[in-house]
Amino acid sequence: MAVVKANAYGHGAVECARRLAREGADWFGVALPEEGIELRSAGITQSILSLGGFWSGQADLCVQQRISPVVYRLDMFAAMDQAARQAGVIADVHLKLDTGMGRLGIRFDQLGEFVDRLKEFRNVRVDGLMTHLAAADDDACQPLTKDQVRRFDDAVTLFREHGYRPTHLHLGNSAAIYGYREAWGNMVRPGGVLYGLWRDVLPSSVNDAGLVQVMSLYSRISLLKWVPAGETIGYGCTFEASRKTLIGTLPIGYHDGFMRGLSNRAKVIVHGTYAPVVGRISMDLTLIDVTDVPGVEVNDRVVLLGSDSQAPELSISPEDLARIAGTLSYEVTCGIGPRVARVYC
Ligand SMILES: *Cc1c(COP(=O)(O)O)cnc(C)c1O
Repeated sequence: MAVVKANAYGHGAVECARRLAREGADWFGVALPEEGIELRSAGITQSILSLGGFWSGQADLCVQQRISPVVYRLDMFAAMDQAARQAGVIADVHLKLDTGMGRLGIRFDQLGEFVDRLKEFRNVRVDGLMTHLAAADDDACQPLTKDQVRRFDDAVTLFREHGYRPTHLHLGNSAAIYGYREAWGNMVRPGGVLYGLWRDVLPSSVNDAGLVQVMSLYSRISLLKWVPAGETIGYGCTFEASRKTLIGTLPIGYHDGFMRGLSNRAKVIVHGTYAPVVGRISMDLTLIDVTDVPGVEVNDRVVLLGSDSQAPELSISPEDLARIAGTLSYEVTCGIGPRVARVYC
């Protein structure tokens, strides 16, 4: 199951799903039924799982669009049962267990009483049993992860004892796939690693995942100007030119996902040279110091994520920006705004 929720972590859900389908993905994981509908409208025919579930008013939609929801409350079974009966079909759902994350799912120690009440929903089939691991990337949390896997295995046994035959058993996100063979079940749910995000995602024992970042982010210099020593630039006077400085303006800002927290800290690549971001990043504009970039001109391409053909040894990863901004690489790529054109090659 390729997880393409949140617009495929900012990469573009439809394009990514098409490509991943060609690579052999059987299932797509989305967060909401709406995201599943976007894929269906684009002609994606593979199975779709709505990982976050659905609102009861969306049950008909899930049935019509063949979107299997994750369910974790009894009334969700009731809503799907009613929608499926009206449509004259059996609807597939995946039952989610909370084995220790404390987020979505029926608590593992309450499954027994829950199971007894499912029998009445004759138009619903539990096609999958699943759980989500809280800290498969963190060796310090290994006891919790092992507990989670054991609780899940026990739940599968209990479920089978009640006569259920779920086709799919799944627990593994990117970190679990790399860190815990026992968490593979018979299906896995990678997200981040599909997009080449791994340095702040996988267990630290993984030194080289052999993955390449999928996303590059480019802008261009829209204005160049000399600023004399001693003047400040940008909102809040946070940068003072210590020398006569050549400032380049980029028409990209925090609305586009170039986070304000990167102000005065990130760097970009211009003409095969790193150039520092100077001053506050604004909503639509960013300033860089290109004094030391030979031959720099207006309209030159600037690399904010990725690498430059002129100097392939220089590169900037989502993990790099995440570290500077105190967040996770996922938040960097998810945050690339809708004004930024996605180009696929
Ligand atoms: C987002 C998500 C995943 C994918 O996680 P990654 O860390 O990106 O691999 C898997 N399962 C569920 C339930 C999720 O919400």
